[in-house]
Amino acid sequence: MSTEQRRVLHGTSLSPGLAEGPVYLYKHLSGLTDLPVNIETKQIDEEYFNLDKATLKISDDLELLAAKVEEEIDSKLAEVFVAHQMIINDSYLRKELRKEISLNLINASSAVKVVMLRWEQRFLLMESQIARDKGDDIHELSNRLQNALAGITLHPLEEVPRNCILVTSRLMPSDTIFLAERSSLAILLEHGSSASHAALFAREMALPCIAGIPDLLKSVKSTSWALVDSDCGNVTFCPAEEDKVAFRKKVRIKEQSLSRAREEARGPALTKDGVRINVHANTSCLTDSRQAIRNGADGIGLFRMEMLYMARKTAPDSQELFQQIKDIIKVFNNKHVYIRLLDVGADKQIPFMDFLVEINPALGQRGIRYLLRYPKLLETQLRALLLLSLEFDVRILIPMVTVADDALRVKETLHKLAAELQVLKIPKLGAMIETPAAALQAVSISEYVDFMSFGTNDLTQYVFAADRENVMVDQYFDDSADAIFRLLKMTHEDLPHMPLSLCGELAGRPEQIARVLQCGITSLSVATPLIPLIKEAIRKLSLTASHG
Ligand code: PEP
Ligand code: MG
Repeated sequence: MSTEQRRVLHGTSLSPGLAEGPVYLYKHLSGLTDLPVNIETKQIDEEYFNLDKATLKISDDLELLAAKVEEEIDSKLAEVFVAHQMIINDSYLRKELRKEISLNLINASSAVKVVMLRWEQRFLLMESQIARDKGDDIHELSNRLQNALAGITLHPLEEVPRNCILVTSRLMPSDTIFLAERSSLAILLEHGSSASHAALFAREMALPCIAGIPDLLKSVKSTSWALVDSDCGNVTFCPAEEDKVAFRKKVRIKEQSLSRAREEARGPALTKDGVRINVHANTSCLTDSRQAIRNGADGIGLFRMEMLYMARKTAPDSQELFQQIKDIIKVFNNKHVYIRLLDVGADKQIPFMDFLVEINPALGQRGIRYLLRYPKLLETQLRALLLLSLEFDVRILIPMVTVADDALRVKETLHKLAAELQVLKIPKLGAMIETPAAALQAVSISEYVDFMSFGTNDLTQYVFAADRENVMVDQYFDDSADAIFRLLKMTHEDLPHMPLSLCGELAGRPEQIARVLQCGITSLSVATPLIPLIKEAIRKLSLTASHG
């Protein structure tokens, strides 16, 4: 019998913190179905039956989805699901799938994989973009069918047990929503970059997270116990008794100093020369909000609406959005709450919007571009926010603004809906400055907005042409480079009276705060666990001294 050996592995810390507990290994499903599963002749009818049942299920789901999307978002989008439904019921496809099962004696799932890959490749080789898009539709349908055949209705991460250390290869932004409710203790990844959404999520949830641990999945067993020290980027599997004693001592010391910092964070953050800097929280769920209040947040500086869409099968309507947001923000009473309109596209895909197929999605229909293409989606959100503004100090943030027209169109829609709903006091509207173009032409954008907030995560991605999710280009992704500060400073010089805030990860680095404040930024929004640290850093600074 082999017993597991004590082992210390190193990686890059994406989110600091200490945690200890049992390991849960999460392997992606795709690897499990690589080899075709053979059947005997007598099982052919059973596989036909399974195939028909799964097809019917998917077809019904798609019909429901199309109806809901048509009602709540856009009829153009609904057409995509109608088209998917037609493909899945195509008699030629059905014949080919049956033939694959009977001739090659493989089960329905293997047949779906083989046949639909063949179809997909045929489309992907075609000249026209429309045909190539169809290839992606087939890919999507293939996954749906394979999942239905495997009886998978849950997202696999919904099965992660509570209070464990999740060990996996990588996390997609849409995975994180399933983790939000699972109360994991820490996350260990083979791959992951510091500006990825999974990393932001971990920081916001105060979940220690270490990435870049090669062959992690191969070298760890589900039975292991682990000590995760994400302050140093180390993890000890199967620790010795002395490791545990030393680790627990470190945890106690850290908890004591954190509770002191929290105590002090309750008050406002004033620089030595008396300038008040608001320190807001980045939140997207109730857990964040509660923690934000405990940590002394002056309000919410960035409410990412994506989380409200990611966990669902269809888009919420205004009333649902209103209620869900209200539940999350109500602990803030009369404090500022900056809510960002849905920012989807590129690395942030929503399950029921996964038909977005673009060759270069980071430069495609992201954020406001997507919302302007599907005005019903925008209007649903604005209605909910207008209703919320009757009870809260809500401010609206527009994601991924590049030109003034983006802001103008939102402003016009907001005013139109306010008139319809008879909301007299229109909430303040702000532009996220997260593309170089927005910073460079902030003056023209300023005509339509009341404030601006720098999203330095995307700004850095676009300034350095370095994908924030791609570890291979991490060395180019430097959000505290001179190039970034130059854009911040220039925007302030061009618009000295425009209220400027910063809600990218840069705002959460104590050592950068002096430089950030010198760029005229008067409010910061950070992951909730960082609020006490950032307030502490502000109190040590003098703006007049740093200007001099
Ligand atoms: C940013 O880009 O800096 C930002 C705050 O938005 P997100 O990270 O959600 O893209
Ligand atoms: Mg962004």
